[in-house]
Amino acid sequence: MKHLRERLGEVVESDVCIIGSGISAAMVADKLARTRLATIVVVEAGDDVPPLDRRAGLRQRFLDYDENPWPRDHLEGYDVEGPLQSRSMCVGGLAMHWGGVTPRFSPEDFRLKTQFGLGTDWPISYEDLEPHYLEAEEVLGVAGEQGPPEMDPRSKPFPMPMLPLSYNLALLKEWVTKAGIAMWSQPSAKNSVPYAGRAQCCRNDTCTPICPIGAKYSPDFTWNALRRTNRVKLHTHTLVRRLEVDARNRVVRAVAVKVGAARDAPGREIEFRAKQFVVAGGYVWSSHLLLSSRDSRFPNGIANSSGLVGKYLTGHRNVQAYIRLPMKLYPGINEQHSLVSKQFMRVPPRSDGRYLRHDLRVWESTSGQAPRLRDDSGALMLGDEILSDWRRRTEHGVARVRAYYDVIPDRSSELTLDGSRKNPWGDALPKLALRDAPESAEVRAWTEDTIRALFDEMARTGNGQVQRTQSDEFQDHPAGGCRMGKDPATSVTDSWGRAHDHENLFVVGAPTCVSGSCANATLTFCALSLRSAEEIGRSLPGKSP
Ligand SMILES: Cc1cc2nc3c(=O)[nH]c(=O)nc-3n(C[C@H](O)[C@H](O)[C@H](O)COP(=O)(O)OP(=O)(O)OC[C@H]3O[C@@H](n4cnc5c(N)ncnc54)[C@H](O)[C@@H]3O)c2cc1C
Ligand code: SF4
Repeated sequence: MKHLRERLGEVVESDVCIIGSGISAAMVADKLARTRLATIVVVEAGDDVPPLDRRAGLRQRFLDYDENPWPRDHLEGYDVEGPLQSRSMCVGGLAMHWGGVTPRFSPEDFRLKTQFGLGTDWPISYEDLEPHYLEAEEVLGVAGEQGPPEMDPRSKPFPMPMLPLSYNLALLKEWVTKAGIAMWSQPSAKNSVPYAGRAQCCRNDTCTPICPIGAKYSPDFTWNALRRTNRVKLHTHTLVRRLEVDARNRVVRAVAVKVGAARDAPGREIEFRAKQFVVAGGYVWSSHLLLSSRDSRFPNGIANSSGLVGKYLTGHRNVQAYIRLPMKLYPGINEQHSLVSKQFMRVPPRSDGRYLRHDLRVWESTSGQAPRLRDDSGALMLGDEILSDWRRRTEHGVARVRAYYDVIPDRSSELTLDGSRKNPWGDALPKLALRDAPESAEVRAWTEDTIRALFDEMARTGNGQVQRTQSDEFQDHPAGGCRMGKDPATSVTDSWGRAHDHENLFVVGAPTCVSGSCANATLTFCALSLRSAEEIGRSLPGKSP
């Protein structure tokens, strides 16, 4: 044992060891610290982020020079092949620069097989997750408007009143209402009033990538509070390379390495021991860690008796359009806020048997509205010409509309280890490929045409015109890779995120999703993580209230 300690260097013991410090990890740590007596250690590969008082300056440099406002937020030599959402690896993870948009999934998302005959049902229902949606909305601080209850079921009001609609959004709402579409203020983790010691949103309009005043929730606020009161110990710059399992199939240690020669000797190993391990590395690094933890007993990695670790990656694709409308808008008031509808998400099966569910959002847009020096033909304009060209083009308004549509994931929608590319410690790097199941692939062209026809119809109702449409190849809000389920043969974890194969190993948030819905998914990752925390906490002594 002495020999092992010397080889490994430091040994850190705790009740719960959480790997990753993104938003899902923050939910688990916060809930355990609030409700349980436990030592909690968090291991994060990346660095701390700049504190709040530096963010106004960082935002200004982003605006002036297009500089990344989160310097040093990724690890060199830790690259991914395939459609990576962001390479951010830092305290707080991707949600340091997220948009803070927080709709819920809808009840249909959890029962696609039963209701539509395709995909896979989740082992939990919307009703099972509803209390955790409420809890997530409280913890993040969500400002929202109750939509029509039949479209937007919820058992309690939002913790904060909705973000007010700008003059532009109020006009656009009149237009969509005429088109027969019910839309309301998009729920967002941004303070419409001062909340949790953080300021009220004052429309700086740079939520993605940086809120200079902390009105938008980001996980660093949770980590700061937990670290200040010594309720968690966060090890930054520490990359977990593998988990090790004992003869009873319990995870006994996470073997990590210090990253970054500036601070510590490069390559120095640290061993984390805990009663329970929580993998919170997001949709890429969670599966990667489980697959990388292979040895002679587990040649395909741990938690992988189903062979499904890294499989069924999921997300949603989009179609968007810019619609020119005969209304005077004043873009630039709050471009990042939008109207949302679930009218096309909460639909029964179609009589033609084809599957289509999508959300719908509407924003103000500056597309084609900015002053310019050259006209449509490319000719240079001078003096008054510039002003009259600008006046002419701003006589009308432009709306940006976008629908995220649900894509059923294929088993081959996967993360695999690519032995030909290694990180600086010699571990194979991940390769991503998101692939549609045949039932989605078959209807993709029709799906996008149907959404474009809806946009045409909306434009006609407002005497407007669709200027251009586009649909992106990537799938947004990626998730999956360790999907949950009742049957250990067809899933990696149970509904609590507990690995079927290892009683003290949990995977939380995005990787456990069975499908990707057609709405921004992070609130759902948070609700799932809080539900996992409930189960993780059961074996720990409770805190007296
Ligand atoms: C620009 C942008 C805007 C977005 N806007 C929205 C939005 O408006 N609404 C919405 O719903 N979603 C949005 N998202 C998505 C959202 O940010 C993510 O879904 C969410 O942050 C994922 O959180 P996570 O905890 O699952 O993982 P991550 O944020 O990826 O956190 C995982 C953390 O674990 C660490 N880690 C991983 N493996 C290891 C290891 N082996 N050892 C140590 N540490 C490890 C990583 O360094 C990372 O910090 C946006 C994303 C981007 C990029
Ligand atoms: S609009 Fe501005 S103040 Fe409000 S959340 Fe976004 S960046 Fe922060």
